[in-house]
Amino acid sequence: MTPAQTYYEASSSPFSARQQLVHDVDTDVCIIGGGFAGLWTARALQRRHKDVVLIERRQIASGASGKNGGFVSAGFNQSMSAIFARVGADHARALYRLSRQGVDIVREETRLGFPGINLTTGYIKAAVEDDAEGIQRRAEWYARELDHDMEYWPTERVRDALRTGDYFQAMNERDAFHIHPLNLAHALAQEIERSGGKIYEDTPALDADIDGVRKIVNTPRGKVRAEHIVFCGNYFPGSAFPELARTVFPVATYLGVTRPLGGKIADAIRFDGCIQDERNAFNYYRQIGDRILWGAGISMNLKRPLYLENDLQERIAAVYPQLAGAAIESAWSGNMGFSIHRMPQIGMLQPGAWIAGAFGGQGLNTTAIAGELIASAIAEKDDRWRLFIPFGLVWAGGWFGKAFAQVNWWSRKLRDRIDDARKKSRKAA
Ligand SMILES: Cc1cc2nc3c(=O)[nH]c(=O)nc-3n(C[C@H](O)[C@H](O)[C@H](O)COP(=O)(O)OP(=O)(O)OC[C@H]3O[C@@H](n4cnc5c(N)ncnc54)[C@H](O)[C@@H]3O)c2cc1C
Repeated sequence: MTPAQTYYEASSSPFSARQQLVHDVDTDVCIIGGGFAGLWTARALQRRHKDVVLIERRQIASGASGKNGGFVSAGFNQSMSAIFARVGADHARALYRLSRQGVDIVREETRLGFPGINLTTGYIKAAVEDDAEGIQRRAEWYARELDHDMEYWPTERVRDALRTGDYFQAMNERDAFHIHPLNLAHALAQEIERSGGKIYEDTPALDADIDGVRKIVNTPRGKVRAEHIVFCGNYFPGSAFPELARTVFPVATYLGVTRPLGGKIADAIRFDGCIQDERNAFNYYRQIGDRILWGAGISMNLKRPLYLENDLQERIAAVYPQLAGAAIESAWSGNMGFSIHRMPQIGMLQPGAWIAGAFGGQGLNTTAIAGELIASAIAEKDDRWRLFIPFGLVWAGGWFGKAFAQVNWWSRKLRDRIDDARKKSRKAA
């Protein structure tokens, strides 16, 4: 038996592998990619009585969708202030409303009674500098500009829930929540099949002819002919769709889960929702029973770092010295797709050809809206996807784009080191 790579694989509900496509097939919509973007799109199309075929080059949720932090919250990978500056207040508000709708879609689907999704609520973002006024102002800004009530937590409340001197005030997004993403993805796939959709695994799209009235997707042993194609490959690895691949770059990021910590966990964390700190190179984590799931770090090098367990262990101990030595049971890396504008690519490429990709590190709500917008555009001529036109397919800068992103990350880490040193000398003084 091959050892499970991720905590999610080790703890998922049982699911079985699917067949490869070995013949030609006709359908209304062909979806390429079996992550959340593809799965939500299929579900939304089926609700509108469209026949779907989904092809996945490996297995369902074998990309980012089965490996992520599982934090489902409003917003995008780009900050709301940058979105306001780019498209204006009304447009930005409409986008934010959609992002909240994405959270609602995920919540509704988990209520269908899928097993093992383990929903817990709340999402604290904790400040690492003492800034009561700043955090309160930010919470007020969300209420006033985006009609979203964030709960303000003073330092005492934060330190009661999170036993570390590193954190000060926080904002809690109460309607955010956490899921077991791999279980949710498999539950969605089963639901798609139960409703008559076809899913083929081990079936890479090799290329596609999207110019005719009927689009054709070629796979190693069969073709899919469809009225519409939706490209949901995240960042499209390999050489199948070079034009799309040029607009997104893959960025690796890391997660790990500790061994059971027993009663020790309550010495550190007494909040069972999602937690993120506001360091430049931030940490995000949560309890899972008496373990901690901890995420941090990015790299343009997609190879799993050799000392990932040690890095995560050190990060945990830096925030919670009382957990020094907590062993990491499994650690893994996953790849996010980033566009240069840090917003997802959602919309029409040409009549009958659609894209839902580049969700970055904020894909759990945004993939759900991508599915909804594309399905309602196909079935009902809804044109809300046009809200994403300002964030179209832009060349991601090739080698230079990646180098820029890596240097940007290193400079964030450096700023954290300088801040830490400043804090230490302040304390000593
Ligand atoms: C470690 C990690 C932590 C994260 N944490 C969070 C979080 O807490 N909250 C959050 O909102 N987001 C998070 N994200 C981001 C989120 O997981 C992604 O944005 C989201 O899963 C993207 O979904 P997707 O369907 O676009 O991509 P994927 O899940 O990568 O799916 C794309 C699929 O397309 C397939 N594919 C590609 N090319 C082809 C082809 N030619 N033919 C057929 N199939 C193809 C791939 O095999 C893959 O399965 C995290 C990501 C990572 C990696």
